[in-house]
Amino acid sequence: QAKQSGRGAACFFDRDLDRVIRERRKIERDLERAVSHDELRLVYQPIVSTVDRRVTGYEALLRWQHSPHGFVPPDKFIPIAEETGSIIRIGEWALRTACTEASCWPDELQIAVNVSPIQIESRDFTETVEGVLAATGLTPSRLELEVTESVMLRHSASALATLQRLKDRGIRIVMDDFGTGYSSLSNLQAFPFDKIKIDRRFIGAMEQDEAALSVVRAVVGLGTSLRLPIVAEGVETEAQYAFIMREGCAEAQGFLFGAPSTAIQVQPRLRLIGA
Ligand code: C2E
Ligand code: MG
Ligand code: MG
Ligand code: MG
Repeated sequence: QAKQSGRGAACFFDRDLDRVIRERRKIERDLERAVSHDELRLVYQPIVSTVDRRVTGYEALLRWQHSPHGFVPPDKFIPIAEETGSIIRIGEWALRTACTEASCWPDELQIAVNVSPIQIESRDFTETVEGVLAATGLTPSRLELEVTESVMLRHSASALATLQRLKDRGIRIVMDDFGTGYSSLSNLQAFPFDKIKIDRRFIGAMEQDEAALSVVRAVVGLGTSLRLPIVAEGVETEAQYAFIMREGCAEAQGFLFGAPSTAIQVQPRLRLIGA
């Protein structure tokens, strides 16, 4: 009897695994075509200064409207695109689209674009970025490239050289989701960062959780000693905002100031700001 049910469980497992593998293959194939099938969109989320709550810029975030499946969140498809290499094409599309969009915004607004370590390690990444800036006419200092801690843990020598070259061109390099990886402080100092973003999990937890609060304080302290401004991600309440202001974060981003929205929704507000 036990043997029978055991065999049944194994069959279910095989069938599930088979389905998971088939779904994954389909996502891999469909991702390859997402750019040419016009299924990708960017949404833009405001980042504000804690000095006066004014919008300093927007972060571009990818959205994939897969037909017939519908919306697929970036946390699901970006890791797959990184494994198959399609992140190179998708990332270039995102960079080009975001810079084109931002070149129509008022000059004081920054545009932050997320880039994968796979892109940074690809041989012609610097040329790609320079090409996009030349084509769109965007001033390099208006572009911020957001990279996660994993970039420091991988083949750091080439990534470091690429980031340094981009920084020398005037582009700003932002450490994204800080606190979630395992980077060392010496790594952080070796890389040419202009800004550090504290991951939203710490902002969300800091009011209830002493440990999260300690992380927020430690990161702000680190930013002060390295002379790097700190951005708080995922600020959802006035209480959180008051708190991170008091702690010394220079900028904030989160649903309190606005959810990511399409450029069409962003533009009318920008005209008001510009007026
Ligand atoms: P991220 O770069 O850390 O982006 C911030 C994420 O937090 C976004 O999720 C945003 O929608 C979400 N968020 C912003 N404010 C709040 C808030 O107040 N509360 C909560 N709960 N969430 C908030 P999203 O858009 O789902 O993106 C997830 C991740 O996918 C991004 O994290 C980034 O790592 C990656 N990603 C998105 N677009 C791109 C891209 O163009 N290229 C690459 N390589 N990665 C991207
Ligand atoms: Mg980001
Ligand atoms: Mg982030
Ligand atoms: Mg994050």
